[in-house]
Amino acid sequence: MRKKIVAGNWKMNKNLQEGIELAKTINRQVEDNDVIVILCTPFIHLTEVRNVITKDSLFLGAQNCASEASGAYTGEISADMICSTGAEYVILGHSERRSYYHEDDAVVNKKVKLALANDLIPIFCCGEVLQERQSGIQFEVVRSQVEKGLFDLSVEDFGKVVIAYEPVWAIGTGVTATSDQAQEMHKVIREQIAEKYGNAVADNTSILYGGSCKPSNAAELFANPDVDGGLIGGAALNSADFMGIVNAI
Ligand code: PEP
Repeated sequence: MRKKIVAGNWKMNKNLQEGIELAKTINRQVEDNDVIVILCTPFIHLTEVRNVITKDSLFLGAQNCASEASGAYTGEISADMICSTGAEYVILGHSERRSYYHEDDAVVNKKVKLALANDLIPIFCCGEVLQERQSGIQFEVVRSQVEKGLFDLSVEDFGKVVIAYEPVWAIGTGVTATSDQAQEMHKVIREQIAEKYGNAVADNTSILYGGSCKPSNAAELFANPDVDGGLIGGAALNSADFMGIVNAI
């Protein structure tokens, strides 16, 4: 059975003290059940937030990792360093990284492999921009990102990956994909995985929706058969909103 997951992407928000407070509140409120809740914090928060977590269903993640293993890459943070903090997940290929930092599919693919080699579970993001949806090429765009980012992985490694479909036009805009739009794309992705790795692997892959998910729309989105949870940005910065989404699953 694939896992239900709600992951919060704090992005570049919260100083260390604010982050610890938020993590403490969420840790208090998370119930130990079969929903996996992940806090993807800024790098500098990881170790401190790790120390706050006491619940079995609450996990820690980073938002990026370097595309090289180690060495003279000033300012970068490696997958090994992230793993050494106790983090178990890492968001890769987020649209903000793809657009502001020019990360292409090849770079994202290198990061995915480094993450897996260092025992981190990639939360691999894919999604089309508005113009691509308006031109009707959204499925082609997302299928290409998934193929180039993930399809040279072994079946064993692919089986560890979590996918997040995040239509770029819905990220941080307040505009959410409709429940039907989310389900339609998630189904396309799952079918693509089935073609490449077989039905059993496709059935076991968690595919999250991300893009202006809130407590008021989460239940409808998560009710879809191919939507296995959410990657949450803005609403992850407030414990009431975030827990409202966690409890909607
Ligand atoms: C995100 O950036 O991953 C995201 C889903 O953001 P938001 O929820 O703010 O749209």
